[in-house]
Amino acid sequence: MNPQPATLYQSKLIFGAHHDCPLIVVCPHCHAANRVPAERLAGGGTCGKCKGALFAGKPVELDQASFDAHAGRSDLPLVVDFWAPWCGPCRMMAPAFSQAAKSLEPNFRLAKVNTEIEQGLAARFGIRSIPTIAIFRNGHEIARQAGAMDAKSIVSWARMQTNS
Ligand SMILES: [Zn+2]
Repeated sequence: MNPQPATLYQSKLIFGAHHDCPLIVVCPHCHAANRVPAERLAGGGTCGKCKGALFAGKPVELDQASFDAHAGRSDLPLVVDFWAPWCGPCRMMAPAFSQAAKSLEPNFRLAKVNTEIEQGLAARFGIRSIPTIAIFRNGHEIARQAGAMDAKSIVSWARMQTNS
């Protein structure tokens, strides 16, 4: 049995939703909210608006507007890498974060925020050192970790923070 749909099913139960309610998944390309039946999530799916793949196996780059769509509207936990191009450890961690996206999708959405461009987001969340990885669920930050991590650590940390 594939453990991913079971994990999602459990997380819906924990959050009090009926099991056949669809999950809201925000498109990584056009940032439209899509309703996807939980049992169909493992198969991926395409966006009803732009027809792009809902899961591309890589992090999505976010600005303020798309950040709010993914953090506030999606039912998936959002794992965000706050980084900057001038930061050596950030660049070193980038392949690990992409690798983690392949493991954590479709139960999580992984995203990157370039703090040099998106200074408003960095200020809003009080990002003081980079890289910082934070997890958002239903619009709220539930955990953060400063410092570079390898792919395996990112995956296990994200699952531990969300009990999934
Ligand atoms: Zn789309």
